[in-house]
Amino acid sequence: MNRRNFLMAAAVAPVAPALAAPPGPSIETKILRLNLQHTWTTTMSSSQYRDTLHVAYARDGITGHGEGAPIVRYHEDAESARKAVESVRGLLLSANPMQFAKVMAEVFRRVPGEWAGKAAIDIALMDWVGQKLGIPLYTYFGLDPKDTPLTTFSIGIDTPEITKQKTREAADFPILKVKVGLATDEPTIEAVRSVTKKPLRVDANEGWKDKEEAVRKINWLEKMGVEFIEQPLPAEMIEETRWVRGRVHIPIIADEACQRASEIPKLKDAFDGVNVKLDKSGGLLEAYRMIQIAKALGMKTMLGCMVSSSVSVTAAAHLSPLVDYADLDGNLLISNDPFRGVLVEKGKLVLPGRAGLGLRGA
Ligand code: MG
Repeated sequence: MNRRNFLMAAAVAPVAPALAAPPGPSIETKILRLNLQHTWTTTMSSSQYRDTLHVAYARDGITGHGEGAPIVRYHEDAESARKAVESVRGLLLSANPMQFAKVMAEVFRRVPGEWAGKAAIDIALMDWVGQKLGIPLYTYFGLDPKDTPLTTFSIGIDTPEITKQKTREAADFPILKVKVGLATDEPTIEAVRSVTKKPLRVDANEGWKDKEEAVRKINWLEKMGVEFIEQPLPAEMIEETRWVRGRVHIPIIADEACQRASEIPKLKDAFDGVNVKLDKSGGLLEAYRMIQIAKALGMKTMLGCMVSSSVSVTAAAHLSPLVDYADLDGNLLISNDPFRGVLVEKGKLVLPGRAGLGLRGA
């Protein structure tokens, strides 16, 4: 089914009998293949496309859109995410969507794992609720869209020549995020630095395996104008990260070590901040909770994303006025985004003023 048919199906199904009440609620799940502009390499994988799960929740003539990008690290794929959503179809069709917090608590209780599937449900419900209330989601959360941070643009791991080319292509972005964590860290950073003096943020994706190596690399990165380092060591090496933190000057941000709100207190002295992603947390509600808990503990907050369409990235962007750092460029890395939502102007996230997520067809 192409996107147009998918949207039409979401809007009209199920077919209402003549003279009946407005169409009852419906849910459509669909796996979308998103094509990457560049082959995307991190310490974890290399790929030319990503499949994400899309959910359309329709009721009262309003359609809410949600998306989740499955994360291999959490043993998910698009099909398992789709099955997770289908497993709670009955609950979602019978529930009152205005009781979204109660509904999502029940979804979390019934569905083990499958964070991307849960995120797709949560985002679709919140998009629907925002449209029903006639307000953008940032207004629902009490935020000022002028407070959005700059987003970084990510440079995946590649040869020095292609790294230089990608850095030049990112000319509009005032801050870059560079992926490291393989044997090529120094040539990668030197390639970026050979074409730009911009501030850099670096993500090692758990790529360094011992604490001395991490200290050496982080202190070198600081000299190269790097603002902070994300997940230098494997997630479970919290004690070693604490040791590293005592020997470096730039902030250390937890990503793989921090999936949900309940994990944040134990990270407090090992990390300066946390990278929150809707695909990890299971949606906007848990992401909001994570941001508030991190702030209460005096930690820095960041919103990140996976490679995904404008549905998921726009959802995260609605929370971005709350955070210190944003890395919300997953939709900019693909060539077939079916939606338009948040825009980026000279690195600044620009939220749509329309109700809910504020999405439009591309
Ligand atoms: Mg990361």
